[in-house]
Amino acid sequence: MKTEAFRKHAHQLVDWMADYLEQIERYPVKSQSKPGDLLAQLPAQAPQKGEAFEDIFRDFEHKILPGITHWQHPSFFAYFPANSSPASVLAEMLMATLGVQGMVWETSPAATELEERMMQWLRDACGLPAHWHGVIQDTASTASLCAILSARERATGFQSNESGLYEQARLRIYASEQTHSSIEKDVKIAGLGKENLVYIDTDACYALRPEALRQAIEEDLRRGYHPMMVVANIGTTGSTAIDPLPAIAAIAKEYGLWLHVDAAYAGTACLLPEYRHIIEGIEHADSYVFNPHKWMLTNFDCSAYYVSDKETLLRTFSILPEYLKTGLEGQVNNYRDWGIALGRRFRALKLWFVLRSYGIEGLQKILRRHLALAQWFKQQVESHPDFELMAPVPLNLVCFRYHPQNIDDPNRLNELNEALLRRLNASGKLYMSHTKLHGQYVLRLVCGQTYVQERHVQQAWQLIEAESQRLSRLLSL
Ligand code: PLP
Repeated sequence: MKTEAFRKHAHQLVDWMADYLEQIERYPVKSQSKPGDLLAQLPAQAPQKGEAFEDIFRDFEHKILPGITHWQHPSFFAYFPANSSPASVLAEMLMATLGVQGMVWETSPAATELEERMMQWLRDACGLPAHWHGVIQDTASTASLCAILSARERATGFQSNESGLYEQARLRIYASEQTHSSIEKDVKIAGLGKENLVYIDTDACYALRPEALRQAIEEDLRRGYHPMMVVANIGTTGSTAIDPLPAIAAIAKEYGLWLHVDAAYAGTACLLPEYRHIIEGIEHADSYVFNPHKWMLTNFDCSAYYVSDKETLLRTFSILPEYLKTGLEGQVNNYRDWGIALGRRFRALKLWFVLRSYGIEGLQKILRRHLALAQWFKQQVESHPDFELMAPVPLNLVCFRYHPQNIDDPNRLNELNEALLRRLNASGKLYMSHTKLHGQYVLRLVCGQTYVQERHVQQAWQLIEAESQRLSRLLSL
């Protein structure tokens, strides 16, 4: 493609992007595609000859878009959001154009130094300990893997890196039974197994019970295990439960455990001073992760990983083959040594654009709107005789279910809510997701999408109420 054609198509695309965001509400939130719909429309082989941009773009609109679930739709209430914002999109465009691969300082000094400064800005804006060092990872899954690998090395005197896990003590990692599945996956990747991960019971609010943690550690010590790490959740995936960090930190200190804090979603709330209580005790953590790519208006992917001891991180991951030597080792940050991948995208640029474009105050305003919307929705649930709240709402996720007064059978309630969710999502008017909390099927509604306003949450509630009544009539309840 020649420069003039690139310029022309890029302008067309930007117009399309602006229209898309402006008119996003005309799309069904959740893709209505059936399995195989797109595959059936795609040629089995790549084209031998290049095709015109117009043809590619026409296919994007007609074939690809129907298979897209619109995460930036204001009625996207599912999972946790993966927010973008105009500022972040513009930065992504520049990142793509520059095509920087910032594995070492010298391969783009600005990428490294901007990342260093952005991690400091974020750290301070969220009230995290001033001596912490931060690095951008692709995802919280990767960040937690870094934490587990660092903890494993510290616990084994850096011997696992030297000679593998053979004949190492039987290590144990503790996490609440509400912990995100990425921890189990990370444990496997770290060369450990099911035996090494111990799930700890939670209380009625789905937060880890410190006394159960202590008991499990004591029991393990008696049986000859080596307790090495505890993962605390600030905002579990199921219900944004907040584990009691000060009590967990005290236990971690007593038994010499690495304390990793997973605040993948909820961490963004710490931009609000009035929500910092959720990370009380954070100064005792060894590592911490939160995802600006969830709730902080920064396009996926961008995960902020912090450690209290940079040296352990570097000792775990540093590797210096001849072809990567620059002579500046020790003088500058080479972020390839701060995580798993060698190659690195220039993600700091979108953080810079977002933080400067909104300012901390602009972001705070949006977060407070989201939090207030969730409280409004929670009140509707609480004041309706046929709905019930299924977990506390410390932030902006509401876990609830439809519970007609004449039904008490737990399985029947589970099936009913599953059917309700399917019908709601099929409407295309909103998208929610679900989980099970202590065996009960619950609907999850997150008021955290960048563009969500009061009317979207009100419409969602009206739709949920109306659909639940239709379903009850259909099933003759
Ligand atoms: N931790 C928690 C608490 C999460 O909710 C999630 C995802 O929702 C993750 C970790 C994994 O996030 P990522 O997709 O960045 O790996």
